[in-house]
Amino acid sequence: MKADIHPKYNEVKVVCSCGNTFVTRSTVNKDTLNVEICASCHPFYTGKQKVMDTAGRVEKFQKKYSNPKSSATKTKADKS
Ligand SMILES: [Zn+2]
Repeated sequence: MKADIHPKYNEVKVVCSCGNTFVTRSTVNKDTLNVEICASCHPFYTGKQKVMDTAGRVEKFQKKYSNPKSSATKTKADKS
C-alpha cells in the first residue's frame, strides 16, 4: 500500500430507523451512521410485504386479480 493516500477505515456503529444497531467498518468519517433500512427490517430479508399504497391502487389491483370472476373478466365475457 502506498502511504498517505488511503482513507481511514474505522469502526462505525450503524443505527437503523427500525432500532437495530450493528457495528461495521467504513471509511465514513463519523462514529455513527444512520440508515433508513437494514437487513433486519428490509422486506427482502423479513419476507413480509411492505407496500407503499398510494390512493388504494394496490388494493384495487389485488381485488381485481384475486377473484377470477371479478368485474373485469366478467364484463369482458358479457360483451363477447
Ligand atoms: Zn432496520
